[in-house]
Amino acid sequence: MNTLNLYLSHLDYNYSQIQKQLNPKTQIMAVVKAGAYGSASEAIAKRFEALGVDYLAVAYAEEGEILRNYGIKIPIIVFYPQVDSLKIVLENALEPCLYSRSLLMTFKSLLTATNNKQYPVHIKYNTGLHRLGFPPEDTDWIISQTASNNLNLKSVYSHLAASEDQRPSQLCNQQIALFETIKKAHSVQKNSIPKFHLLNSSGVFNYPELQYDMVRCGIAFHGFANHPKWDALLKPIAVLESGISQIHNVKKGSYVGYDKGWKTPIDSKIATLPLGHADGIGRHFGNHKGSVFIHGIEVPIVGNVCMDMLMIDVTNVKCKPQDIVYFFGTTHNTAASFSKQGKSISYEVLSGLGPRIKRVINE
Ligand SMILES: *Cc1c(COP(=O)(O)O)cnc(C)c1O
Repeated sequence: MNTLNLYLSHLDYNYSQIQKQLNPKTQIMAVVKAGAYGSASEAIAKRFEALGVDYLAVAYAEEGEILRNYGIKIPIIVFYPQVDSLKIVLENALEPCLYSRSLLMTFKSLLTATNNKQYPVHIKYNTGLHRLGFPPEDTDWIISQTASNNLNLKSVYSHLAASEDQRPSQLCNQQIALFETIKKAHSVQKNSIPKFHLLNSSGVFNYPELQYDMVRCGIAFHGFANHPKWDALLKPIAVLESGISQIHNVKKGSYVGYDKGWKTPIDSKIATLPLGHADGIGRHFGNHKGSVFIHGIEVPIVGNVCMDMLMIDVTNVKCKPQDIVYFFGTTHNTAASFSKQGKSISYEVLSGLGPRIKRVINE
């Protein structure tokens, strides 16, 4: 039925392409949040471990716990730990990113209560994305708090709000200037100086001179870096395919799908696919916005996308039930170009692919 084919050799290729942008000493953090961007987190995380990445990163503590249960041994960073999940952080030897005074203080008391010493933590600064992070003014407070014997401050970082924007970007430049100030302040710390990092996937390609000690890459491993020029250096790892359930010949002037979504302008042949908005192909791909490939021919999604199914117009295609239909692949019709048709982005479409789609791991 529905299959997401994943090609690990393409992941390896993207890893080496990222490495090519980096100095030999720059560490790599592979971001595997949201089920490794909707792919197959166990296989992907294990591949990263085998490739020798320095860190894995997840968004939430529960995701880190799942990776530990798969037997992942390398350090796992939790970007956005919540106060009520700090116990999971400790129980699974995860490394939290602390982003507020209250979170830091709560975590410290937990470390004291559990008699933990030198526990590895990371500090996240807000330099302009205004999502999570300490304000730059908190640097002195953070330095004094992290000098405690409970904590081992491993790294200090921030996140660019528009790392793919053409340079010079005023917003990024402001963030970079703030980060430099923060870095200087932390560099006078008497205990060991933490590592610094700022770049995500597109940042690696757009600001290679700002790689500091480490980079944090997610989408680039999946073959995308938010610009055609950088995408061309990478290989998409995923192919989403489905198969035709049934074909209808409908007369001119018939309605296809819920709410009279589409009225056939001519006698038409409509194929139904077993994939709908519950699987991550949202309604915004319906009504001729999105298209798929069947026997090499591009055909539109017609009518409204249903929860479990969607319809395509195959009037001009010789096809039969069970024939394979491609939503996106590794060459011209990638997840990035498919996403664009629905005014979405590769991140959203990939991470939104539902559990009913079978993941198949290929070398
Ligand atoms: C998700 C995330 C990344 C990875 O971003 P990509 O654009 O996928 O490389 C890096 N850093 C942080 C803090 C993130 O949340």
